[in-house]
Amino acid sequence: MHPTVIIGAGMAAYTLAREIRKHDKLRRLLIVSADGADAYSKPMLSNAFAMGKNAAQLVSHDAAQMAQQVDAEIVAHCRVSGIDRLAGTIATERGTLAYAQLVLAVGAEPIRLALAGQAAQAVLSINHLDDYARLRGELAAIDGAARIVILGAGLIGCEFAEDLSAAGHQLTLVDPNPYPLAALAAPALSRGLLAAWQGRPIAFEAGASALAVERDGEGGLLLSLSNGKCIGADIVLSAVGLRPALGLAHGAGLQTGRGILVDRFGRTSAPDIYALGDCAEYTVDAGGPPSAAPSAASTAVFNYVAPMMTAARAIAATLTGSPTAIELKAEAITVKTPGYKLALFPPPKGLAGNWVDEVDGERTVCRFFDAAGCLRGFGLSHHTLALRQQLLAGLNHGPQ
Ligand SMILES: Cc1cc2nc3c(=O)[nH]c(=O)nc-3n(C[C@H](O)[C@H](O)[C@H](O)COP(=O)(O)OP(=O)(O)OC[C@H]3O[C@@H](n4cnc5c(N)ncnc54)[C@H](O)[C@@H]3O)c2cc1C
Repeated sequence: MHPTVIIGAGMAAYTLAREIRKHDKLRRLLIVSADGADAYSKPMLSNAFAMGKNAAQLVSHDAAQMAQQVDAEIVAHCRVSGIDRLAGTIATERGTLAYAQLVLAVGAEPIRLALAGQAAQAVLSINHLDDYARLRGELAAIDGAARIVILGAGLIGCEFAEDLSAAGHQLTLVDPNPYPLAALAAPALSRGLLAAWQGRPIAFEAGASALAVERDGEGGLLLSLSNGKCIGADIVLSAVGLRPALGLAHGAGLQTGRGILVDRFGRTSAPDIYALGDCAEYTVDAGGPPSAAPSAASTAVFNYVAPMMTAARAIAATLTGSPTAIELKAEAITVKTPGYKLALFPPPKGLAGNWVDEVDGERTVCRFFDAAGCLRGFGLSHHTLALRQQLLAGLNHGPQ
C-alpha cells in the first residue's frame, strides 16, 4: 500500500500528521519537504529578535525527532517538482514517489516588489526560519544599532518593527497608506499604535512607496521613495504580503484562485489530493454536498494558524475514513505589538459603513457598523479573551 504523502513540513503539515495519528496509528506517512523539515512556530519569527533567540533556538523538534513523534518517514531538503495525477506519483529531486493520498501543505511565498536599482536583490523577506537566520547574520555583521527600513506597515511589518526596535535597532516603516495597519484596523487604533511608538526608534513614512535600492558606496543601502525622499539603510526588509505557492497545483492542473481551491472537506479538484495552510483557498460557506466541486464564489485564503488547525483536524478525519467538513470559526487577529496590543476583526473589504470608537481608560474599542446598523467588524487595544469573544458573538456575518 502506498503512503499518504504530505508535501511541506511547516505548521500545516505537522499539525495534519499529528491529527492523522490520533485516528490511525498504522498507515504509512511520508513527508517530503524542500527545507530542513525542522519544526518551529512560525509566528515567533516576528517576536524573537527582542528575546535574542537565534534560529536554532526557535526549533522545537528537528526532522529526526518529528519523524519519531508523528511516526513518519521524512525526506528533507527535497523539492517536489511535479504531480502525476493519473499515475498517483510525485516527481522529486530524489526520484519518483507513489502516493495513495496526497496533501499539499506548501505554504505561501513573499510578494517581491518590482524595485529598480542594482541593490534590489539585497531586499530581504522573512517567511521562513532560514530567512530569520540570514537576517540575524546580517545584523550581527553590523556594528551596533542597524538602520532597518521595512516596506509595508501591515501586520507582519508592524510586528517586525516593534520586535527589531526592542532589540535595539532603528526602524523606518514605509507604507502608501496614511497609517500603519490601514487595511485591517480602525483609524483610531492605527493612530494609537503610532502614538505608542513615540519616543521609540520607529519612524513611519506615510503615503510613500519604495522605487529603487542602490548601494551607497560605504556598505549601506540607499532607498528612493515615491515622495522624493531618499533613506539610508543597512537592511531593507520587505513585508508587503504573501502569495500562496501555486506552482505544483498549476502543473497538476488543479483548480486555483488566489490559492489552491478546496471544497468543504479540504479536497482539491482532484479527489485524492488535499490542500491546507497558507497555500489553500478554503470554501467558507456551509452549503453543498460532499462531492461538490470547489467554487470560487465564497472562498478565502487565510495566512493564520487557527484556520489551518481547524482544517488539519477535519482533513485528518476525512483521510482516515470519517468525512468531516472544515467548519472555520470567526476569529480575531491578534497583533504581536507588545507596545500597543491589538485584536482585529476587519469588516469585509469595500463594505460601506462607519467606525464608532469608544475609549475606556487606556482601552479603545472600535466597532464597524454597515448601512443597516449591523456590527460587521471591530478592533480593540488592550484586549482580553472575554472582550474579544463578546465582540465576536455580537458580529453579524451578513449575507452568505
Ligand atoms: C513573521 C510571521 C509571523 C506570523 N505570526 C502569526 C501569528 O501571530 N498568528 C497566526 O495565526 N499566524 C501568524 N503567521 C502566519 C502563520 O505562521 C502561517 O499561516 C503558518 O505558519 C503557515 O504554515 P504552512 O505550513 O501552511 O506554510 P509554511 O510554513 O510556509 O510551510 C510550507 C512548507 O512547504 C515546503 N515546500 C514548499 N514548496 C515545496 C515543494 N515544491 N516541495 C517540497 N516542499 C515544499 C516548505 O519547505 C515548507 O516546509 C505569521 C507568519 C509570519 C511569516
